[in-house]
Amino acid sequence: MSASAMRWSSEDLAWGKHANRRLEEIPELEWIQIGRGPRGRGCGTSWRNFTCSIGGEILSVPVRCDHRDCPNDADQWVEDTLKHVVKRLRSTGTFRRIRFVRPAPRTAEEMRVQRADVIAEAKRAEISGGTILATVRQTRGIPRITWHVVFSVVRKVGRPIDQRGLRALLTHAAIVRGSSSHGLVWWGDLSYRKRPKITFPRTSLHATEEKYFSVVCREHGCRAIYSSTTRRPMGSLIDVAPPDLAGGGG
Ligand SMILES: [Zn+2]
Ligand SMILES: [Zn+2]
Repeated sequence: MSASAMRWSSEDLAWGKHANRRLEEIPELEWIQIGRGPRGRGCGTSWRNFTCSIGGEILSVPVRCDHRDCPNDADQWVEDTLKHVVKRLRSTGTFRRIRFVRPAPRTAEEMRVQRADVIAEAKRAEISGGTILATVRQTRGIPRITWHVVFSVVRKVGRPIDQRGLRALLTHAAIVRGSSSHGLVWWGDLSYRKRPKITFPRTSLHATEEKYFSVVCREHGCRAIYSSTTRRPMGSLIDVAPPDLAGGGG
């Protein structure tokens, strides 16, 4: 393998440089749909190799970045988030949704003000709490955000949305490119302050760290030790699910 083949593409490097910033650190917000951002470093193109500490055999694991922005990983974010929403709204059937269309906020401050305004409107409609997420659409080159307020069926406001509809909505969820901010925000009587036990699915914070992977050798039941990242697998292939995304509290 040539030296240049081992280098990361400029896209990968750009991602590493701009990933996971707080919203306040991004001068101008760029709204993208999940899965429409860059792949994380090495995601889908590289392998991590581990050596079994007992048997010494090499195990190779495909690199996944686990970014919701990434075309390879957005689907997983949708499924994890859907599970989380269903659990938190304490319903498996139908939810309701109301929508508010606004010009896309360009700064963190604009976004905060806009979201607070939408939540205030939802409260005026006597919705006590729920979750809010955005979708983005370009109209003649101008991005507009639709805020979707999703809540449990308590009143006849808004329109019903079932799990399939919710999955479709999550698939189109908008996020700020390069930001670590939550795709969904819970408010009112479902906010975190009120219900601190349930956590968000992890977004992307530890994704590029080698220690992210904890690989257990099935044959010997031991933890294999990371040795290298390469463009091709060096040992027997194993697929490793990401760590438990539900997090289980805290
Ligand atoms: Zn990825
Ligand atoms: Zn082993």
